[in-house]
Amino acid sequence: MSKQTHAFQAEVAQLLHLVTHSLYSNQEIFLRELISNASDACDKLRFEALNNTALYEDAPELQVRLSFDKAAKTLTITDNGIGMTAQEAIDHLGTIAKSGTKDFVSKLSGDQKSDAQLIGQFGVGFYSGFIVADKITVETRRAGATPAEGVRWISGGTGDFEVETITRAERGTSVILHLREEALDYANTWKLKEIVGKYSDHISLPILMEKEEWKDGDLIESNNEEGGRQPGGMVKTGDWETINKASALWSRPKKDITDEQYADFYKQISRDFEAPLTWTHNRVEGSTEYTQLLYIPSKAPQDLWNRDKKAGIKLYVKRVFIMDEAEALMPSYLRFVKGVVDSADLPLNVSRELLQESRDVKAIREGCTKRVLSMLEDLAKHDKAPESTDGVTDVLSEEDKAKLGQYSKFYAEFGAVLKEGLGEDFGNQARLSKLLRFASSTHDTVSVSFADYKARMKEGQDAIYYITADTLAAAKNSPQLEVFKKKGIEVLLMTDRVDEWALNFVNEFDGTPLQSVAKGAFDLGKLQDEEEKKAAEEVAETFKPLLAKLKEALKDKAEDVRVTSRLVDSPACLVVTDDGMSMQLARMLKQAGQSAPEVKPVLEVNPEHPLVKKLDGSVHFHDLAHILFDQALLAEGGLPADPAAYVKRVNALLS
Ligand code: ADP
Repeated sequence: MSKQTHAFQAEVAQLLHLVTHSLYSNQEIFLRELISNASDACDKLRFEALNNTALYEDAPELQVRLSFDKAAKTLTITDNGIGMTAQEAIDHLGTIAKSGTKDFVSKLSGDQKSDAQLIGQFGVGFYSGFIVADKITVETRRAGATPAEGVRWISGGTGDFEVETITRAERGTSVILHLREEALDYANTWKLKEIVGKYSDHISLPILMEKEEWKDGDLIESNNEEGGRQPGGMVKTGDWETINKASALWSRPKKDITDEQYADFYKQISRDFEAPLTWTHNRVEGSTEYTQLLYIPSKAPQDLWNRDKKAGIKLYVKRVFIMDEAEALMPSYLRFVKGVVDSADLPLNVSRELLQESRDVKAIREGCTKRVLSMLEDLAKHDKAPESTDGVTDVLSEEDKAKLGQYSKFYAEFGAVLKEGLGEDFGNQARLSKLLRFASSTHDTVSVSFADYKARMKEGQDAIYYITADTLAAAKNSPQLEVFKKKGIEVLLMTDRVDEWALNFVNEFDGTPLQSVAKGAFDLGKLQDEEEKKAAEEVAETFKPLLAKLKEALKDKAEDVRVTSRLVDSPACLVVTDDGMSMQLARMLKQAGQSAPEVKPVLEVNPEHPLVKKLDGSVHFHDLAHILFDQALLAEGGLPADPAAYVKRVNALLS
């Protein structure tokens, strides 16, 4: 076939115009795209050769070679993959076949700047070569064809391209980029190695470059003193070396990977110096196929609480790096998970926008979420050595021994983030609830699960009691807990800032309602006997006149004043209504500069307390009433609205 000229398909021409006329922030993606094509070509050959090993000819080792010629200003990417026939070159390098790229072209706005940005995200396959080249020559021969059936394709990236037959001994394709003046620095070993390391390290195909070594310049024969040497330089040695790792760790079988290799890989992708706490590595098959390698770090990063903290998942498509921080692949409450997802189903040019919409991505996200939860459940299950029931202690396997205490460690670092999931991921709420751990009035360490609590519930107890507070000490010593302590009823102590918010989304655990001890009227249900209830009612009756006076004195501060039997040692406490926001949450929102509704609490007084008994008839009634209220506020971690007035009143009484 002699030289033929073909016009590009209209969309290609449009795309090329943009590629050649825009400035890119990340020009270097062209190499990722071309290496990816080379890798695909090798995959295709490998596949066809399954039934026809002759296709390998005398070169069974599939590889990509990068080379450059500074003088000729060319950069060449050569593969020994499947190659192309003349017709294939015309069809594949003259039209846009992929629907993804077509979509992309239809999105182009004509505004160079925003279009250039789009292109940077997308990558445009073969045509991205024109980002750095003003002319591209492709020389190729289809595997199985004769050397005389080689093809040369040439284009300047404008309206048309030329195709002619050549003789080509080697199977496969060379893409020769004639570099633009501004792109000459790509003809540099270090630069190319750096880009390969960044984007293509995990291509399982070896990428080779010719080794270089330093050579001194020649001596210049000269009679005068200015004689000496010509400048030296790097020269090619004829030896080729592999410059990528040539093996995607996650694509290797689990049994071939050591723990150390897993940990090294984690450090490499996370920039963490510490080894990970644990990981999970799976090939998921089914309607969406992907590989996941997910790690849980040992330590929380500094910026864990940053709302804009990016996800830690790198997305690969068929071992080609696509993007970092692929937040669409992991819910925000699992933002601490690091790792890699490699999908076989997503297009290479997938953008963040497309990721949000893709059904495959949704399936991957759900799959990854479930995996992480299973991994945590497994750690939780093995956190403590099982208690022996019959005096015989089970001998733990090495694997289980290694898991002892791991979940507690995880929870101390990431438990609070995990709780965000209660409000974020309703589908997994039940699983998440089981993973929660708290301190309690009977257990100082954060180790009590809802299930543990339920197992210890008193006969007749029909709620899981909890209290939220700023600190463990404040929670433990809270007046609201007094009667629970007296009656020996366990109360969960919640002291993470996120607790109050997260608990809003959870009303019950396994059929048992959750009840804040600082909300609503005091009611222990069956745990209070009839006599106690009757006595309380009688007291309430006799206290009516006093309560009315207190209510009047505190009308600006308290929603209501009532007697309670929840107190033992304290004279008074504050509670809010059942559906009201807790005082603690309101304070937190205010501190964060967010608007919070004014919470007017209910003052509850202890009719048995001497101070309360003394109130009636006291000449200091007004001051005492305010002190009672302000002290209740202090006891639960708040501050009196007017601290100076409080101090004055107390001092007046003291003196
Ligand atoms: P994509 O690779 O995503 O399909 P490209 O525009 O990069 O889109 O390439 C278009 C087509 O050209 C490829 O699908 C392939 O058939 C062919 N092609 C590109 N590069 C090579 C190569 N190195 N070897 C063989 N065929 C290639």
